[in-house]
Amino acid sequence: MTDSASSKLIQGRTGPWEIVLGLEVHAQVASNAKLFSGAAVGFGAGPNEQVSLVDAAMPGMLPVINRHCVEQAVRTGLGLKAQINLKSRFDRKNYFYPDLPQGYQISQFKDPIVGEGEIEVERDDGTTFTVRIERLHLEQDAGKSLHDQDPNFTYVDLNRAGTALMEIVSRPDMRSSDEAAAYVKKLRTILLYLGTCDGDMEKGNLRADVNVSVRRPGGELGTRCEIKNVNSYRYIQQAIEYEARRQIEILEDGGKIDQETRLFDPGKGETRSMRSKEEAHDYRYFPDPDLLPLELDPAWVKAIQYSLPELPDAKKARLQSQYGLSAYDAGVLVTEAARADLYEAAVVGHDPKLMANTVTQSVLTFANATGAEVTAAGAGHITVAMLSEYAQLIEDGVISSKIAKEVFERMAAGEGDPKAIVEKHGLVQVTDTGAIEAAVDKIIAANPDKAAAVKDKPQAIGWFVGQVMRETGGKANPAAVNDILKAKLGVAE
Ligand code: MN
Repeated sequence: MTDSASSKLIQGRTGPWEIVLGLEVHAQVASNAKLFSGAAVGFGAGPNEQVSLVDAAMPGMLPVINRHCVEQAVRTGLGLKAQINLKSRFDRKNYFYPDLPQGYQISQFKDPIVGEGEIEVERDDGTTFTVRIERLHLEQDAGKSLHDQDPNFTYVDLNRAGTALMEIVSRPDMRSSDEAAAYVKKLRTILLYLGTCDGDMEKGNLRADVNVSVRRPGGELGTRCEIKNVNSYRYIQQAIEYEARRQIEILEDGGKIDQETRLFDPGKGETRSMRSKEEAHDYRYFPDPDLLPLELDPAWVKAIQYSLPELPDAKKARLQSQYGLSAYDAGVLVTEAARADLYEAAVVGHDPKLMANTVTQSVLTFANATGAEVTAAGAGHITVAMLSEYAQLIEDGVISSKIAKEVFERMAAGEGDPKAIVEKHGLVQVTDTGAIEAAVDKIIAANPDKAAAVKDKPQAIGWFVGQVMRETGGKANPAAVNDILKAKLGVAE
């Protein structure tokens, strides 16, 4: 067993255990209308304002498939390097719930629109692993029961009823809560690149059912429990950690795990039983007689394939080879397509590493602090032209890296263009060796003991560099300071 595998194990009283995780992610399709009706899908409408007769399941109403939603599912399948099934079918999944007026959900059971695919996922330490996708199918969302509107009644809001969801089912290929969170992050990034889901987890537009089981390392798969509808990375991790511990305790006490569906309570940080796990046959799936099998034209699928954008993995590899960036820098840039776009707009004519640092550190810090949106044109009031001018000042040696920090902060604070800031505050780097020599002489004269000691301990020169930089208000050219100090202190190159 490798180190990274053993570090993921959980130590129980009776020895180590391994967590086995598979996820079913429900992603709301980015679309103006619902899967089988023309009702709108926007967020924030008043209760039951976006409900057609089809969504309300009035007698005799017939569902009509939304071509755009099908296209989005195919697009997503292609983005997951998955097999597109040219023939698929919609089934009725029967169950009763007050917010499900049809008495069944239209879903895809035996013949989903998308088959097997895979996602490459990065761990925090930069290593990667592959999660196999079992399938992606289209289905309707249910409405909402509102229990907090009245002390005596539950209200039903059907705005969400009939909204298109993609259920993306993974194989049980994850072995820790970190890996599960990293998988959802990567999946979300891909969906955002594709434009097939807006990925807003707070609004519930991307939520995960997490299947958790434990086993002895490398042993037989254990019985799993499914935790429903977890909608943040942190909750996914907390739910998994709690649930794995719970199962281990039961097994170590000689008990057995009941296959069941559980809920995560974020307030208490624990999972609790919701219902015993239903089997597929409990739902009495059967083909929906109102809908014909879905047949896709191979030419149409091919056209969608050609229209796909450059996806995160490909973009990362290209940034590394085209600009010589590290895997880390390229990874940070491709987390959002707009970041990479901004980088590529600003880097033209500049040192790629310098611009990568500027975007991944300075610009992102600014964006996080102010909530400014990062786009291909800039972030907030910081434009591509300003970033370009800023890099040029550093590259030309006009400002030192230390002064550059101040210039960026003033630029972020809205003081204008970098050149104007440098002029206004007199921040031009001192490359005049006479001025630097004077500062060096002054520091050496004031510290004769240290100057004598540095001959035996050359690395102590760093202290002098710091003093000279302070003396010059951070404006001295660091390379010139180093050269002059070495010469005057008699330190060899
Ligand atoms: Mn589902």
